[in-house]
Formats: sequence, structure tokens, C-alpha cells
Amino acid sequence: MPTIVETKQTDTQIAKDYVNRVYEAVIKRNPNESEFHQAVKEIFDSLVPVFEKHPKYMENGILERISEPERMITFRVPWVDDQGKVQVNRGFRVQFNSNIGPYKGGLRFHPSVNASIIKFLGFEQIFKNSLTGQPIGGGKGGSDFDPKGKSDGEVMRFTQSFMTELAKHIGPDVDVPAGDIGVGAREIGYMFGQYKRLRGGYEAGILTGKGVGYGGSLTRTEATGYGTVYFVEEMLKDKGLSFDGSTVVVSGSGNVSIYAIEKATQLGAKVVACSDSNGYIYDKNGINLETVKRLKEVERKRISEYVAEHPEAEYHEGCAGIWLIPCDIALPCATQNEIDEASAKVLVNNGVKAVGEGANMPSTLEAIDIFHENNVLFGPAKAVNAGGVAVSALEMAQNSMRLSWTFEEVDAKLQEIMTNIYRNSVNAAAEYGHPDNLVVGANIAGFLKVADAMMVQGVI
Ligand code: NDP
Repeated sequence: MPTIVETKQTDTQIAKDYVNRVYEAVIKRNPNESEFHQAVKEIFDSLVPVFEKHPKYMENGILERISEPERMITFRVPWVDDQGKVQVNRGFRVQFNSNIGPYKGGLRFHPSVNASIIKFLGFEQIFKNSLTGQPIGGGKGGSDFDPKGKSDGEVMRFTQSFMTELAKHIGPDVDVPAGDIGVGAREIGYMFGQYKRLRGGYEAGILTGKGVGYGGSLTRTEATGYGTVYFVEEMLKDKGLSFDGSTVVVSGSGNVSIYAIEKATQLGAKVVACSDSNGYIYDKNGINLETVKRLKEVERKRISEYVAEHPEAEYHEGCAGIWLIPCDIALPCATQNEIDEASAKVLVNNGVKAVGEGANMPSTLEAIDIFHENNVLFGPAKAVNAGGVAVSALEMAQNSMRLSWTFEEVDAKLQEIMTNIYRNSVNAAAEYGHPDNLVVGANIAGFLKVADAMMVQGVI
């Protein structure tokens, strides 16, 4: 007769075996896709308590189905450069899961883009979008095109060619892309124009992140960075801490970073460092955000130029060194795997109290373990940076209703959404036996809604 304790261990083992079996199958079916494997591993491992408690999800093959995209589109993107030479890039769109709404997720233009990166981002997006409480499924796309150093004309010809193919696969009720690394207001504008021209109609809800003058939502530009800070503020509040008076390091100097710096500063923090893909600046008096905005958003220059205007600041080549700077709060807002185990240890030794992932998967699995082992408050990307896609969903709602909300209205909704994401993650973590582990909490809270929708929609 097994004791109760032994029976419990058996249930855990069954759940672990199931998760490991499906994970091995994912690796076998998707060889050489390390980023995708990493994202799947992080989510699968945290779902063990769910399968232990609710074996019905195992019986319905939820993991097998959720880790296989509904559709993966790759396509040729030919375009002509300023010298009249033909260039060819590769375009991607992964339509991962549409059980709770149309596919939704950004487009990334960066030379590192490949199937693994797009699939890791698309997979994460399923759970992130679910967490927002908005009716949106998971997707992601992009190209290995590098906008850096290209003229406006080249960027326009490339994006038009990209959209000419992508247009066949998207629609306001089918799949609604947005921006990501390398895709900002300029690229969205060109893509919207090309889609409109191909479609022969004005479908405002086809893309989000549009300019406010043609169907965009106020606060969308700020949403991911502001949302990141709102989430971290909730984490801090629960422990009697706040941004006020704290020293903050933010990596990157793009859309997410700039607005994270802005909101953290508004809440009384001193942000002393930021970076780009070449190096980082350290300004002990606090970064002058107007200079960063002008350099990166308007003049599209390197962050190294900052020191010419602010001689008291230092510039250092290489990105990883930014984590050597002592801080109370670290906000990685550049790209995946920018904080490894060694950087995490340095941050801990320097007394970091909280880490909030503004970028997607910026911490390696080993780095996350270090933060957890050392009781650093850790906010995972899919919860922390969900504000961008949440406001994208609000943009879709405004487009459908043909009206525009004010900045204050959208900002208030964003704050409410971020607070709800935080609360739901905390509650799920506690309910499933991992109090204070927001990685587990966010993954479980995001998963349950999608899994329940998959259960009732049949084996599709
Ligand atoms: P941007 O292109 O606006 O900015 C990216 C920043 O990160 C730039 O400063 C860039 O430097 C730097 N960077 C890019 N690649 C690398 C690299 N390999 N190593 C070091 N630095 C790098 O992108 P976003 O701000 O939009 O996106 C940043 C992160 O946030 C990404 O992980 C994205 O997926 C995530 N995110 C973005 C959302 C959004 O709404 N924009 C929503 C949710 C998540 P450089 O100037 O040299 O290129």
C-alpha cells in the first residue's frame, strides 16, 4: 500500500516525465534551434505543478500541440539597393497559436534573425498575450535584414517588398503584426502604406504601432518601457521598496529602454547607464534622456556620441560590461541572453535588489537561478514587457470602434493591466506551490487560459 507521500511523488514524476518526453520531441523535431529550446524548457519546467494537479491537460496533448506552430511561413524578400544592386533577405512569420484571438506579435529586422529566434519569440508571445487579459493569440515575424546604415529609400523598398508577401497571410481578424527590434514608426508606416495599396482599402487594424495621425494609439510608443517600470514598481511595493531614490541600470537605448528610463526617472530613480550593440555609457549624475532620444530616435547615431556632449560621462566598448555597474535595479531592455551567469553573480555581489526583463529572454536560465537563489526580486519578460502588446490590443480595439482614447486613458488602462498581470502571476505562483517565483507564476497564469481554450475547441 503506497503512503500518501509516495503517491504524491508519483504524480510529480508522471508530470515531469510527460514534460521531459515532449521537450525531447521538440528538440528532435527542431534541431539547431537553441533559442527556441531555451524558451520551451523554461516554460515546460514551470508547468509541472499544473500537470500534477490537472492530468486532463496531459491527456489532451496540450504541450505537444502548443509547442508546434499552427503555421510557419518563410519567404524571399528581394529589393534593390541605392547602387542598383539586387539584394535578397529572408522573411518569417510564425503563427503559433490562435485559440484566444488573432495571432499577435511584432516583426524584428536584425541580421541575427532566423527560425529559432522567431519561434522562441512566437512561443513566448502566446503566454504573454494571454497574461494581458486581452483576446490575442501568439505570433512573431521578421527578417535578417539589417536596417543599420541603410538609407530611408532602401528601408522603404525593403519593407514594401517584405509586406508584399506578408500581406497574403495577415488581416485584422487573422494576424496583426507590430514593431520589435529594428522596426519602429518609420518601418510600420511604410508597411501600412504598402498593405493599403495592395488591399485597396483602409484596414486600420492590420498593424499596430501606427502613427497617432493614422490610426495609432497614444501611449503605444511608451507602453513597453512604461509597463516594465509599472510592473517592477509593483514587485518593489510588495517588499516595501520603490524606484524613488534608487540607482538603475538599463541596457539598450531603443524603444523599450528609452521609455523605461523616462518612467523610472519620473518615479524618482537615477538611471546611470544605458547601451547599444557597440558599447555602454555610464553617467554617474544620471543620464540625460533628451540627448539619448535625439541621438537614437532622430539622428540614428551610436550611443558613444553621448560623451561628446556630456564629457563627465564615460563610454566603454562592449555591451556586457554594463552589468558591472553597481545598481539597485537592473532593467535589461536590449536583447536575448544579455545577462549570463557571470553577469548575474556580479549584479548580486553589487547588491542588486530587483531585475525586470524589458527585453525578451535577456537572462539565461543559469542567470535566473542565481537571482532566485539570492532572493533578488525577478520579473520575467513575458510578464514585465507585456505592456507593449497590451496597448497594441487597445489600439486594435480603438481601430474597431473608430475612435481614439486620450494618453491619460490609455496610460491608466496600461497601469491597471500591469498590476493585474503582477497579481495574477503572484497568485498562480502561490497556488501552485512556488510563492514569490514569478517565472513559474507568469507561465502558469498565461498557460491556463490558453490550455482551457484548447480543451474546448477540440483537437486542432
Ligand atoms: P529597438 O530596435 O528599438 O532597440 C534595441 C536596442 O537594443 C538598441 O539599443 C540596440 O542597439 C540594442 N541591441 C539590439 N541587438 C543587440 C545585441 N545583439 N546586443 C546588444 N544590444 C543590442 O528594439 P526594442 O526596444 O523595440 O526591443 C528591445 C527588446 O524588447 C527586444 O528583446 C524586444 O523583443 C523586446 N520587446 C519590445 C517590445 C516593443 O514594444 N518594442 C515589446 C516587448 C518586447 P543598436 O542601436 O546598436 O541596434
